Amino acid sequence: MSAPCKELVTLLSEYAMVCRGCLAASGEMKNMFECGLHKEFAKYTDVQIRRDDGISELICSVCEESLVICKNFRSQCQQSDLLLRNSLMMFRKNSLKNPYKV
Ligand SMILES: [Zn+2]
Repeated sequence: MSAPCKELVTLLSEYAMVCRGCLAASGEMKNMFECGLHKEFAKYTDVQIRRDDGISELICSVCEESLVICKNFRSQCQQSDLLLRNSLMMFRKNSLKNPYKV
């Protein structure tokens, strides 16, 4: 194998071993397909992870924590929105029942 080709193989194998979120090459890593995080990763990042593309399927613990924070923030926003919409609907309903009550 020629040197440039060997370097390319080394580079590609390194790409398969880095975190997809931050490109960290060391530390605690999880395979997103094995731990079921690939769908959430795609959902919150708009980055598609495929099993057969030769690119890393790994996520580091820091990025996994960021993913959980995104998920929790989304959930919190949805719950707040639901609460606000329900409150507004109740307020409007009560206003219709008692149009002159302040
Ligand atoms: Zn990371």
